[in-house]
Amino acid sequence: MDTMQEMQEWVESLERRARTRLGNGRVADYIPALAQRRADQFGIALCTNNGDVYCAGEAQESFSIQSIAKALLLTLALRVHGDTLWTRVGRNPSGMPFNSLTQLEVEGGKPRNPFINAGAIAVTDRLVSAFATPSKHLRDVARRLSANPTIHIDERVQASEWRHRDRNAAMAYLMKAFGHLDNDVDAVLQAYFSCCALSMSCVDLARAFNFLAAGGYARPLGEQFIAPDLSRRINSLLFTCGMYDAAGDFAYRAGLPAKSGVGGGIIAIVPGCFSVCAWSPALDECGNSVAAQYVLELLADDMGHGAGALLTTAPASGVAPWWPRPPSSRASR
Ligand code: GLU
Repeated sequence: MDTMQEMQEWVESLERRARTRLGNGRVADYIPALAQRRADQFGIALCTNNGDVYCAGEAQESFSIQSIAKALLLTLALRVHGDTLWTRVGRNPSGMPFNSLTQLEVEGGKPRNPFINAGAIAVTDRLVSAFATPSKHLRDVARRLSANPTIHIDERVQASEWRHRDRNAAMAYLMKAFGHLDNDVDAVLQAYFSCCALSMSCVDLARAFNFLAAGGYARPLGEQFIAPDLSRRINSLLFTCGMYDAAGDFAYRAGLPAKSGVGGGIIAIVPGCFSVCAWSPALDECGNSVAAQYVLELLADDMGHGAGALLTTAPASGVAPWWPRPPSSRASR
């Protein structure tokens, strides 16, 4: 059996095993347009640093990327503003729900990290200062990184978020009052919601985030998208802050830098090897997809490595240094 076939069979076996968790959790309904998804949908796509894509289930189905956009927003803002961005947002886990107002009030309007809502809104403010239409810029970057020119912003989701914006608006006004937002609150919120409303598939997302597995090199662009040290730093933030206030639990279970969204998607990075996106709309109480978390845990387990080993021993690019155990020797879970 050749290695590509073996790889494809591995991804299919991950999908089969993860299906046992479908039906657990609840589809997000606080943004009404998201509530229309079936809880039992599931897809997974893996993009190696060689550019090969392996997928299973509904990997080509587009869904609302929601907070996964925060990882791209951060990348673009760091490209434009460099380390001055950190005067507006911190780099530590929040330990509080992603839409908490309490912390913001207590800590002088500076969000704990770029992956909670307040932090992403502060990052979006920096992009509103830099680009005429930040959401179109982000969409275009997503299109180029995914090599998919059809990626679009779902206006129904965007409008739904705008109508139910009260809590995000409260955070934005609080930051504005503390002098941590330069632009008009409505303009920043519109841009933020548009970015969260990007519609992409597991395949699109695995391709788009591969630069974080490849030391900042974006194969579809044929260029170094961000510097290797920045790629490492973004992965560190994903590892410590990317899974809402369950980041520690997920690090313990799967040990991978990852970002989830309330649309049910999770992107995860195996530095030096591949990027992977799993999607299933039913969420746990922290807002993370139950089945997508589980499949990433299975994946990490199959690889037979802890995250520490992966993060320190993986080569900068090329063929994965690991190989999954053959399906026959895997314990069923
Ligand atoms: N756009 C969503 C919000 O601001 C993002 C939620 C998420 O995926 O965490 O509430």
